[in-house]
Amino acid sequence: MPHIDATYRSLRLTEAQARRELLRITSYDVRLDLASDDSTFASVTTVTFESDGGPTFVDLKPRRVSSVRLNDAELPAGRLDHGRLPIDTLPGTNVLVVDAVMAFRNDGEGLHRSVDPADGRHYVYGMSFMDAAPSIFACFDQPDLKAPYTFHVTAPTDWTVIGNAPGEQVEPGVWEFAQTQPLSTYFVTLVAGPWHLLNDAHDGIPLGLSARRSIAKDLDADADELFTMTGQCFDEFHRLFGIRYPFGNYHQAFVPEFNAGAMENPGCVTFRDPLIFSSRVTRGTRIKRATTLAHEMAHQWFGNIVTPAWWDDLWLNESFAEYMGNRVTADVTQYSDAWTHNAYARRQWGLEADQSPSTHPVAGNGASEASSALQDFEGISYPKGSHILKQLNARLGDEVFFAGAIDHFESHRFGNATMHDLFASWEKAGAGDLSSFTGNWLRTAGPDTISYDRQAHVVRRVPPADHPADRGHMLRVATAGADGSSAAGWQLAELAVETDTTDVELPGRAVVLDPFEDTWALVIPDPDTLDALVDLLPATDDDRLRAGIWNNVRNAFHNAQAAPERVLDLVEAGMPSDDNDYAWSNTVPWAIERVAGLADDPVAALDRIHRTCRQRLTDAVPGSTLQLAAFESAIASTADVDQLRGWLGGDDVPAGLTVDLALRWRVMVRLATLGQTDRDELRRTLGAEPTAVSRVEHDRALASLPDAEAKAWAWNRFLGREPVPNYELEASGLGMWRSGQEELTAPYVDRYFDDLAGTVQVRSGWVLARAARWFFPVTALDETTLDRARRLAGRPDLDLSLRRGVVDSADDLRRAIAVRRTFGSA
Ligand SMILES: [Zn+2]
Repeated sequence: MPHIDATYRSLRLTEAQARRELLRITSYDVRLDLASDDSTFASVTTVTFESDGGPTFVDLKPRRVSSVRLNDAELPAGRLDHGRLPIDTLPGTNVLVVDAVMAFRNDGEGLHRSVDPADGRHYVYGMSFMDAAPSIFACFDQPDLKAPYTFHVTAPTDWTVIGNAPGEQVEPGVWEFAQTQPLSTYFVTLVAGPWHLLNDAHDGIPLGLSARRSIAKDLDADADELFTMTGQCFDEFHRLFGIRYPFGNYHQAFVPEFNAGAMENPGCVTFRDPLIFSSRVTRGTRIKRATTLAHEMAHQWFGNIVTPAWWDDLWLNESFAEYMGNRVTADVTQYSDAWTHNAYARRQWGLEADQSPSTHPVAGNGASEASSALQDFEGISYPKGSHILKQLNARLGDEVFFAGAIDHFESHRFGNATMHDLFASWEKAGAGDLSSFTGNWLRTAGPDTISYDRQAHVVRRVPPADHPADRGHMLRVATAGADGSSAAGWQLAELAVETDTTDVELPGRAVVLDPFEDTWALVIPDPDTLDALVDLLPATDDDRLRAGIWNNVRNAFHNAQAAPERVLDLVEAGMPSDDNDYAWSNTVPWAIERVAGLADDPVAALDRIHRTCRQRLTDAVPGSTLQLAAFESAIASTADVDQLRGWLGGDDVPAGLTVDLALRWRVMVRLATLGQTDRDELRRTLGAEPTAVSRVEHDRALASLPDAEAKAWAWNRFLGREPVPNYELEASGLGMWRSGQEELTAPYVDRYFDDLAGTVQVRSGWVLARAARWFFPVTALDETTLDRARRLAGRPDLDLSLRRGVVDSADDLRRAIAVRRTFGSA
């Protein structure tokens, strides 16, 4: 378990500003010894900096401090307080040397060390993001105190060490690295271990890939695809941005137990290693990996060359990387349908976040301290921000849009900048006055709701009550069935929605607003449209339009304006003719997990979905990824134990499919949820192929068992009573709360609200906040639970990141209760 000092203070904006005024950092020299111990490492940091003179502090989160010297005078280490070491700086040049022992962590932050269950090998990677750098080296941890770094690393002799700058092994186990370009503390990383490595080059840039040895053959299998996409994206970014990638090597490391999708560290990007596929995956999963790869490359410009001065501008990183990542993937890689995938995979993430009570403006999230900004890595900063930039790009045109971006990179190269600076660059490039666009779209939270009133022949626009705005929308409308027919002869019309009511007659049985995401709004289809779509959806063959229809349907369901049964009608009608594997792997799991349980008869609802999956399994091309997607949902929706057992044994498996490791575990998790397996069988399945994937899925299955012991086991993990890596913690939480097991989990509803606040004692950062959501009692669909959630969220002493998790989970619960109340027959 990581050593958590719950009293670490997160840096406040005002403190960062004061330190920025005082200091200019010349360089860091960091010496790490990873070879001596499995649980700790020695860290000696020499920081050379200029000061105006006066008191400040250095950030440091060590296991223990050996010595601190400032300008050759020894300082008492006992001064360290709440992760901060006070120092008195001299005017002019100062040299600070901190010799400390740090703890390896196992929560995906700091220097994460893990053991591969497949072969017992150890791996280490650095994640300095947000508040974690001081648990690797002493530093002035804020994004606008950049400096070049020189690393010296001692590691076991069979390890390879890769860092932000090129390095070499100068004697066995001793690695020396070149000095980096100026970096923010949060970019600093290294990956160290007995990695499987591959090298290539593109346009003079040395490229690398690495992954654990036990998945070497899986990395080898995809190396061509990864290197090819990397090269294609570099060419396109160079073309669009006009500035070459400046950080030397570009290594992409796939690392174990990584919390986010990836992290854009210059020269050494880290990715979660489930993105190296050990089992067959759908095309949608490959697109997700491709857009992640392009997203991290976009950050080399938006984020790494020019960095936000503070976390309230994190959208300057994430919204741009999301927009550019999708755009470049669609434009230059084999995944030209990346935007359609995005419509299925990301649109609802953004819209749901924007409808939550925790919504905030894209720009200027108001983060006053670093750790609270961590909660804004969500649907607002990614898909909503990306959408607003797409709108801005459409308005300015590529020429002005990129001329402004290039001016921004050139004016602030290797430095920091704010939103104001970027908009000044755009105005200089000829964008004109952008203040009303900025005010309405970037500085005002929440989506407008747009709907069509058939009786009155008007389109209504309703701004969010808490966030008034006067936003104009340009969107397309798709209508069909004007002659009462079921033929999907969709007609498209352009519509300007400039006022709260727009007079317009939209003829047709179905009126689908904004199916191509021309604007950012909550568009809700009327009941007649939902009825008509049951006929019209099956005959619709435009993939983008289908994605838009599903987003309309999901908007309606999220707001208790579509009955669960109506959604199931649409699944039954539409999915058999849908050839798109990511339409399947986004829409059908959503129906299984979020819709079926709210139907009057959840068992019958699941059975309807299952029969749809079986139909697609029968007629999909054998060996296609569509067949794989349908099979995954067939497993998740069946209650037929003989069938599951048959598939596990390889009987009756549709031609073209093999039950590989991932599918085997899907079957085991389903059997566990149904109470049709036991601990012994789960243990044997894990033992037969004890990989990292098996370990996580084993835990998911175990937590899913319908018995008191399983729930108690999962709960102990939530309480931190046993050390558990982040992926296994997530699987335990998500497995624990199962629909149909409400009686078993009932005792944990109150315990969640009693115990959550105390989890700050056992975890921190990303995992602390995420665990609040993983373990939230999602199946306790009643007002009492909602009331308890609201009371907990209102407690002033609750950690901010926990509060955010409770608020968002409670909003989901409130909406599920509303669907039951509106449409339930009971
Ligand atoms: Zn990003």
